[in-house]
Amino acid sequence: MSESNRRRLFELLKIEGNQRCADCRDDSPEWASYTLGVFLCTQCASIHRKMGIHISRIKSLKLDNWEISHVQTMENNGNCRSNVYYERHVPLYYRRPNPHDPHVLREQWIRAKYERKEFISEPMTEYADDYLEGFLYKRGKEDGKFLQRKFVLSSVEGTLKYFIKETSKTPKAVIKVVSANVTFCTNKINNPNALQISWNKDGFTRSIFVYSDSGKDIIDWYTAIRATKLRHLQIAFPEVPVEELILCLSRDYLKEGYLWKTGPRSSDSYKKRWFILDENRKLMYLEHPLEPYPKGEIFIGDSSEGYSVQMGIINGMKDFEQGHSFTLITPGRNWCMGVETADEMQQWIQALDSVINRRSSIPNDAMKESARNDLRDSYIKRNSNLLDQFKRIVK
Ligand SMILES: [Zn+2]
Repeated sequence: MSESNRRRLFELLKIEGNQRCADCRDDSPEWASYTLGVFLCTQCASIHRKMGIHISRIKSLKLDNWEISHVQTMENNGNCRSNVYYERHVPLYYRRPNPHDPHVLREQWIRAKYERKEFISEPMTEYADDYLEGFLYKRGKEDGKFLQRKFVLSSVEGTLKYFIKETSKTPKAVIKVVSANVTFCTNKINNPNALQISWNKDGFTRSIFVYSDSGKDIIDWYTAIRATKLRHLQIAFPEVPVEELILCLSRDYLKEGYLWKTGPRSSDSYKKRWFILDENRKLMYLEHPLEPYPKGEIFIGDSSEGYSVQMGIINGMKDFEQGHSFTLITPGRNWCMGVETADEMQQWIQALDSVINRRSSIPNDAMKESARNDLRDSYIKRNSNLLDQFKRIVK
């Protein structure tokens, strides 16, 4: 490559928009598609390569030889101009990937953009319809086996249903999408196209785990659920700007992992549990990451309500001897937790603090209220003796 071509290429990299990957906004693009004229990060570039040279041709900015005509294409297009064209009609509810998002989200975004050209005109795709029907593999509640089930999403009704048999008339479950959550669970079930769908069932958080053989299908379901949720949130909260509602369409869990917890008495021993922190003010613990219901759910209020988290075990409680520890302080009781590494401990404290210190917004408040009600119901069902205690807490 001639020195002047290289210089021109690196000059272009300084232009606004080119400093970040055109597809995931990673801040160190080292590759480019010299046919599309966009600068890309390593991971997005590898997906471009996978799509084939009829869609995109990739070169390394540093290592490859750049002909003047290719540099010219980069100059004529560039990330901003290209995205104006390829992202013109991205629906508001579509989740654009960031550099740390699951691979399937990134890959399907890139394929939707350049291969299927879904966003250059008004979307005509499955997720934009009022109705979506198809098959997903769902994990059995009792035996843990994944079996194909028919799923039906009705955007008008705002429901997601699944059926045991294709011909069944009665659904096994009817999920109200507006109060449901959908998140990726790639690692938990060791499948790249996997979702965890959770909703409130009779006061308990019920989760199902599904996957599809097709990355496109799983993202269509994910996006359709978000689209349905937006539609119904807009009806429920007409005064809230859509930009704010967009943030409530689905939540990735803030943190998940094994912790050791004690019971409420100082003599209680530590038990290993899978913990999930939901930004919807909920800390759940399960015996196993794939359980349909958590064993317990802890409501996380904000600091003005007496919630806090601190390093170490508070006085009078049994020390955790196999590692590090922290205590979650709630008006009802103190939760002493053991954790293997100092790093993990810091991450948990930070994540819990982010919920405790979070500012509220109207949808957040409504969700907080519903989380509180859910938890109250589940506590009542679990142990009616707790009712009096809980009434005091809620006041
Ligand atoms: Zn990227």
